[in-house]
Formats: sequence, structure tokens, C-alpha cells
Amino acid sequence: MTSPAKIRSFHPPQRILMGPGPSDMHPRVQNALGQPVIGHLDPAFVGMMEELKDLLRYAFQTKNSLTFPVSGPGSVGMETCFVNLVEPGDKVIVCRNGVFGGRMIENVERCGGTPVVVEDAWGEPVDPNKLEDALRAHPDAKVVAFVHAETSTGAQSDARALAGLARQRGALTIVDAVTSLGGSPLAVDAWGLDAVYSGSQKCLSCTPGLSPVTFSERAVERVKARKKKGQSWFMDLSLVLEYWNAHGGKRTYHHTAPINALYGLHEALVMLREEGIEDSWRRHRRHHLALKAGLEAMGLKLLVREDARLPQLNAVHVPAGIDELAVRQALLGDFNLEIGAGLGPLAGRIWRFGLMGHSCKTENVMLCLSALGTALV
Ligand code: PLP
Repeated sequence: MTSPAKIRSFHPPQRILMGPGPSDMHPRVQNALGQPVIGHLDPAFVGMMEELKDLLRYAFQTKNSLTFPVSGPGSVGMETCFVNLVEPGDKVIVCRNGVFGGRMIENVERCGGTPVVVEDAWGEPVDPNKLEDALRAHPDAKVVAFVHAETSTGAQSDARALAGLARQRGALTIVDAVTSLGGSPLAVDAWGLDAVYSGSQKCLSCTPGLSPVTFSERAVERVKARKKKGQSWFMDLSLVLEYWNAHGGKRTYHHTAPINALYGLHEALVMLREEGIEDSWRRHRRHHLALKAGLEAMGLKLLVREDARLPQLNAVHVPAGIDELAVRQALLGDFNLEIGAGLGPLAGRIWRFGLMGHSCKTENVMLCLSALGTALV
């Protein structure tokens, strides 16, 4: 243990973040975080909150009135959706093809709901045919939950098709867009998604700890029709929205907002709008193709089949006979480059290369390929 007397200010090393998140922060966002704190009910701050909601509607491609950043990481956004939409006894179909679908099952259980699990292999997208069968077998399912961009494997599921099936059967959707928002096509209104949550630290390249969420009118109606209060005071939308959505009315204190983190998110979203969301999607795809070409030229193989690959998360098989941890340590120690390891059944078997937000640029692709080439010889 370090003696307290020896502890000095903390200065983190300068890393290049090409793992599963967080991603590198743009200097403009970093600058925004350092602005002076003002009160969370200051009129200037309240004006910025309104802009933030509009900027998030643009990022999510939605007109949903209930769109705001939850104060907490992506996991709190996830819980906010489940706590408000799942009541004890509700049946919820959860599609699991990686770590985060597993967490959704936990959420359903903790809300007193009954999960019906649709399984797909890690590395595969969710199979719409399996969801269709589950919906037929469980016509009383109230909600269908799935992960759009599975960060644990790099697989992208067809959110439009899955939401369309749920809608035909009258079920709402809860969609994890933590890794997709800003990095690959996501169209909340056009695809008919109901409750969608994301994270600030992936393709938005903001500081971790905020979770943008958006709820459709149908989802809002379901929340209003609840028979019982949800078990969480902090995440109860009817309470938190008296702070975030007091249209023309009096905003009331709910919790002290993470003021500076919200400045950072505002700046990150201004940058996304300046670039244009479709150009951001195109940039992620372009650099993914360059990284993929380089990795394949080194003889490495991607985990996910081509039509389901996320551009912002590239999972690669560790070649036989290679010590995967030693390679990651060499990249970090010699190049200050962070990449990700595999999780669950893929631990020790894959590396995960993130190309998210501000980390998604030519110089990072080049560095990553040459560093990896050096570490592998
Ligand atoms: N969902 C997905 C797909 C994620 O990738 C993550 C984090 O990596 C989360 C949820 C949880 O987000 P957080 O770590 O910000 O709580």
C-alpha cells in the first residue's frame, strides 16, 4: 500500500485508445470539460440542456420528445429502460449473442419479469427467424430486447428487422445502441425502435459516464400506464423528467447534474453535427476497411461474417501459438496503444480493435498495423 504522505497529483499516461471503449477524446471536448461549473438550474445551463436534447435527437435520428442523457454510464441507461418498461410478471424476450444480452436478462429478472431467451452464438448477429419463432410461441411477450452493436464480439444485428417483428406482435423494443450511436447507421424513427440507450464514451468520444436515451410515444404511454411504481427512485422517468423535460413549466431539482460532463457531450454532439451523421458513418466504414485489409494482409482472420461486421469494433482471432496477453502488453508498453481482449467464451481467443469516434482516423489505423506487425514477429 502507498503511504498517503507519498501520494501526489495523478497524471495519466498519454494513450491511444483502440479498444472497445472508451475512445480518444477530441481536444475540443476536453476543453469543454474544463469550463467553469455553473448551477444546474442556471438559465444558461438550462438553455444548453435544451440544445443537448435537440443534438441527441439528431444523433438518434428521432423526433422523440423524451430524449435526454441519463446521468450515469451505459449500464444506467440500460437499467432506466428496463426499470421503467418492465413490471413484475411481464414476459420479455431477450436476444443474447454476447455479454450485453446477458446483462439484459439480469435486468429483466431484477425487475420481476420473466425472460424468454433467444440464443445466438457469440460472433453471430441475432437471427430474426429465431425471434419470430419466440414471438409466435409467446404472444403475451410485452417487450423484445436486443443489442444492436455487440461490443463483446463486433457483431451488428438487423435492428430494423427485429423491431419490425416485435411491432407486428404488439411488443415494445428495448435496444442497446451503446456502441452504434454515431459510428454506424441507426435510425430510431425510421426503424420503429421504442426505448434506446447509448453511451458517451464510444463513437461520441466524450468522457464516460453519460447515457443518452430516447423513448417513443408508445414507450412513454407504457410507462404512464404502469400499475405500480418502479423499484428505482433515481431512474424513475416521471421524476427525472421534471428536471429534464419541464416544457415551459418550473424545472425542479432531481439530482445534481454532472455539469461539466454535459458540456463535453454538448461539444461532442456539435462536432457530430458539423461532420454530418452520414459522413461519420462513412468515416467509420472507410477506416474499418483499411484496418481489415491490413489485418488480413498479416494473415489474421476476423471473427464476424462480412455482412454483420461492425466498423467500429473489429474482433480478430488470435493466431495459434501467439501469447495474446503478451501482444497487448507490448502494444501498451512500447506504443501506448490500447486494444481489447476477448470476454467470456472468447477470452484468450480474440483481440478487439476499436475504431470509435475520434480514435477512428488514418494515423491510428497505420500505427495499429505497424505496432501489431512489430509485436507479432
Ligand atoms: N452495452 C454495450 C453494448 C456496451 O458495449 C457497454 C460498455 O462497454 C455497455 C452496455 C455498458 O456501458 P457502461 O460501461 O458505460 O456502463
